[in-house]
Amino acid sequence: MDKHTHHHEGGSSCHELLEGLSLYLDGDAEESLCREIEYHMKDCENCRVVVNTLAKTVELYHEHGKTQMPQEAKQRLFIALDLGDYMSSSE
Ligand SMILES: [Zn+2]
Repeated sequence: MDKHTHHHEGGSSCHELLEGLSLYLDGDAEESLCREIEYHMKDCENCRVVVNTLAKTVELYHEHGKTQMPQEAKQRLFIALDLGDYMSSSE
């Protein structure tokens, strides 16, 4: 599946990270996935920004008593961050 996604040595690409991100933010990700995401973020500023923004938004929702971040809000965020492609291809 990966033809020319040469990223950092960590192995995971931005796309993989973003696919696991909702699990991660919902607290449903396995330990290994969490580590991969965190490892990737160390090297990738782009993903760091995405995760930070999403995490803040999710926190906000938790404060308001909601546990799930609406898909629509996620989509808006991804598009705002110019990552709309990731959303549509992972659905
Ligand atoms: Zn990345």
